[in-house]
Amino acid sequence: MAISPLTIEEVQRTANVYDVISDYLDLKKAGSSYTALCPFHSEKSPSFMVSPQKNIWKCFGCGKSGDSIKFIMEYEGLNFADAVIKIANKYGIEVKYTKPSKDHEKLKGLYETTGKIASFYKEQLKKSQEAKSYIREREILPTVVDIFDIGYSPKDIKPLMDFCEVENITIENLKKIGLITEKENGTITDKFSGRLIFPIKDYKGRVIAFGGRSIEKDRHPKYLNSPETEIYQKRKVLYGFFEAKDYIRELKKVIVVEGYIDLLSLFQIGIKNVVATLGTALTEEHGKLISKFAEEVILMFDSDNAGKKAVIEASKILLKENLDVKYCILPEGEDPDTIAKKGFDKVNSLINKSKDIFQFIIDKIEEYSSKEYENDDKVLKKKKEIIDLYINLLENIEDNVRRGVLLKHLSDITGIPVELLNTVKSKPKKDLTEENVKNNDKYLSYNERLILKTLLNEKEKILKEFSEFDKIKGSVYFHYLLNLILGENINENSEEYKEIQNFYEKVDTKATIEALHLLHKKWINEEAEITAVLSFDKEDLLKEILEKRKLSNNYKFKN
Ligand SMILES: [Zn+2]
Repeated sequence: MAISPLTIEEVQRTANVYDVISDYLDLKKAGSSYTALCPFHSEKSPSFMVSPQKNIWKCFGCGKSGDSIKFIMEYEGLNFADAVIKIANKYGIEVKYTKPSKDHEKLKGLYETTGKIASFYKEQLKKSQEAKSYIREREILPTVVDIFDIGYSPKDIKPLMDFCEVENITIENLKKIGLITEKENGTITDKFSGRLIFPIKDYKGRVIAFGGRSIEKDRHPKYLNSPETEIYQKRKVLYGFFEAKDYIRELKKVIVVEGYIDLLSLFQIGIKNVVATLGTALTEEHGKLISKFAEEVILMFDSDNAGKKAVIEASKILLKENLDVKYCILPEGEDPDTIAKKGFDKVNSLINKSKDIFQFIIDKIEEYSSKEYENDDKVLKKKKEIIDLYINLLENIEDNVRRGVLLKHLSDITGIPVELLNTVKSKPKKDLTEENVKNNDKYLSYNERLILKTLLNEKEKILKEFSEFDKIKGSVYFHYLLNLILGENINENSEEYKEIQNFYEKVDTKATIEALHLLHKKWINEEAEITAVLSFDKEDLLKEILEKRKLSNNYKFKN
């Protein structure tokens, strides 16, 4: 259900950026504007600026900017509609919808159902000696049981059925949330019966699904999760995210583990910025969610081979979001749960020893290099494989400078010239497939909107004056729309066409040409930066660039 454009307009008109942001940040007056420490990147002196007159904010450190809605989206990790609702509530603006759909009512019913079932399971835990003694055995503390709303599903289905009757929960809804199975003869079974229940919550704290751990020894499967439903898509959800998000934002770091108990064990010894993937591989959606709150991700997976493989796959996804990825290597045979049982100090020292994923690979390369004298084909082959892996990871990084630094580092270690390493595979291109763009942030800057709208209406005029459209810096979504217009793949009925025509910016060929030259210049500067990084004799320039980008820790200078 879409929020009415009238409501959006009213929110934009009413919400003052100073007013909204001062609920979150300590704003200090500076002339006609206000400044604060940017919540979206680490900094010691404020480069986050709020202009109440223009009703916009901008960070000169990390480049993020926008209006009140955009701020709430970034800060709270909300989508556009939820951010509008949040601000509307603050100002007492009634939120109207374009058409009250049945879908919305239906989903609301499902959320209510999962919420009620979670509270039922929670009550049942208090009544089960078996489940309680299992929790004691696993050393899960009562406070954690409470915070994560851990429950128990009794073996007998009668209490559940009685509860549903009292609460008016239909069998239909129980099926829709994937809780029960019904046999042909009408017998109903709770899929989770006899299991300890971990409610899975979305980022708003609503229960959307369940995980169940068998408390009997030889029962299979050991873990069982709800199937995908209308309200639960596992690729979008990280277990524990709701409980951890404030800690993640504060520390700008998140620890990713694989299992429920791993997470709870860390949480209860005071390591609270932790989320779990729940047996599925980390997805792009997970990466995007994490990147809204953290700058650094520490992967703490099992120490076996499957765990190592998962680390590499997760790293690729996280590097795409420009996150720093570290690998916390656990001693052979240990997992996050067993380590956590050894206490905070032990875990903390392991976390502090986490290796940057690229450094981890470099260490492996050096290990093999030291064996090279054996002149063994297997050693050489293995070494080549690891170098390929390094380059493979590298290609997920979009920032030219960061990629260049890492490439040079590999070259220094292996003695293979950068040019040769660089030709192993090509630079990643921005993937402009429709699906990819849909998942991307659709925020466009003023210049981007101006260019798109003018180009759509005055294409001939613009093309006469500017042609280097493949050499301008801009967001993925901007380039997507730009390619649609330039390739004549846009018509008056398409959503994109309407979106562009609805921009507030006025068609202005002169200003557009200026904006195009500006973005072209930015592109050229970035290309110059990468050249500097890749050439060996320009250390001063390199140093300056890296410091500006806060990347100097990633590169060891010779002196
Ligand atoms: Zn910033």
